[in-house]
Amino acid sequence: MRFSEKTLGIEESFLNKWDSVVKNRIAGGENILQFNLGQPDFACPDFVKEAIMIVSEKDKNNFYNHTGGTNELRSALADLQKKTFELDYDKEEVIVTNGAKEALFLAFAAILDKNDEVIVIAPHWPTYIEQIKFLGGRPVVVDCKSDFSLDVEAIQRVVSEKTRAIVINSPNNPVGTVYGREELEKIVELAEKNDLFIISDEVYNSTVFDSKKHISIADFPEAKKRAIIVDGFSKTLSMTGYRLGFALSSREIITNMIKVKSNVSGNTNSFFQMVIEDVLLNRFSDFLEFVEMTKNEYLKRRNFLCESLEKMGIEYKKPEGAFYVFAEIPADLNMKSREFAEHLLEKTGVAVAPGIFFGNSFDNYFRISFGASMEDLEDGVERIKVVFGKK
Ligand code: PLP
Repeated sequence: MRFSEKTLGIEESFLNKWDSVVKNRIAGGENILQFNLGQPDFACPDFVKEAIMIVSEKDKNNFYNHTGGTNELRSALADLQKKTFELDYDKEEVIVTNGAKEALFLAFAAILDKNDEVIVIAPHWPTYIEQIKFLGGRPVVVDCKSDFSLDVEAIQRVVSEKTRAIVINSPNNPVGTVYGREELEKIVELAEKNDLFIISDEVYNSTVFDSKKHISIADFPEAKKRAIIVDGFSKTLSMTGYRLGFALSSREIITNMIKVKSNVSGNTNSFFQMVIEDVLLNRFSDFLEFVEMTKNEYLKRRNFLCESLEKMGIEYKKPEGAFYVFAEIPADLNMKSREFAEHLLEKTGVAVAPGIFFGNSFDNYFRISFGASMEDLEDGVERIKVVFGKK
């Protein structure tokens, strides 16, 4: 029996695989605090439950539908961009996907040929790399500067004739950096100069703190034809398991993504498309209220976690958005990130994500998710003090 080189050439999602280890141990009865995954802890909001009840009575909620998404939801998502970010899209420029993950895959599938290069800025969400490799492309990883800001000169240096696209992710997972207008402008300039697609993963756009503001790449009109914006409801509405994502781009790119999707997965879950349509059309103020509530809650958790890490003398970059803290493993522990994550789990029952998952240069980091509840975070901080030698 032989498997394809394509499959042998990639890894199972590091985060998912590590999460399975953790979940299996929890199923085995261990008391583990899960800070390893980007899982918001909020229960399904009541207005989503109401929409679910209403859709359950509707005809054809169980039928196949258009591959790119129902007409109604595509229109509602185009309207959402107008209402939230003043961006102009029409429904033909929207595709509804099985989570943002599928949107990213379809985007890469639509633009990559064998050995085409894609620039990925590290630290990065791990799946970009495996998707690009699986599709025959070559990820070219460029580390950000030591203060985690964009290193535009370094990016420019790796552009070659083979470069087809650049992936950006703001607010960023795992660091929580939120790019400002100037940084984005430089990316747009670089993409224009070298005729690159920009895959802009904006799934954390509703979680931005302090005086920072999310700026979409589509805010630059000249970028629209080359930008593929990836977004979804996993994080915004705490519905990671319902798998509802979407992408926005030019009609031409979306048409090509639909072509791939029609042969891979077909339409995204019809039932949940109808649910989100109902939420956006009939419960929009509840939606906005929920987003605001979660943002305030994340802010409290971020402040608590950052203060606690500071007290323990652990170095980290204060996140401007998303819900992760990327922290340094103290040098005196003399551990690489996988060993550290395993050690922490063993000694304290706290699960974090090893920094190596997010790029080879980050093996002295670990990522803590504050998607977890405040109660769990308080418990977690008490537990990890032991490992860091603090009382
Ligand atoms: N992009 C980033 C940066 C993420 O952190 C995640 C999930 O953690 C995704 C995409 C995928 O989200 P979804 O659940 O919508 O597939």
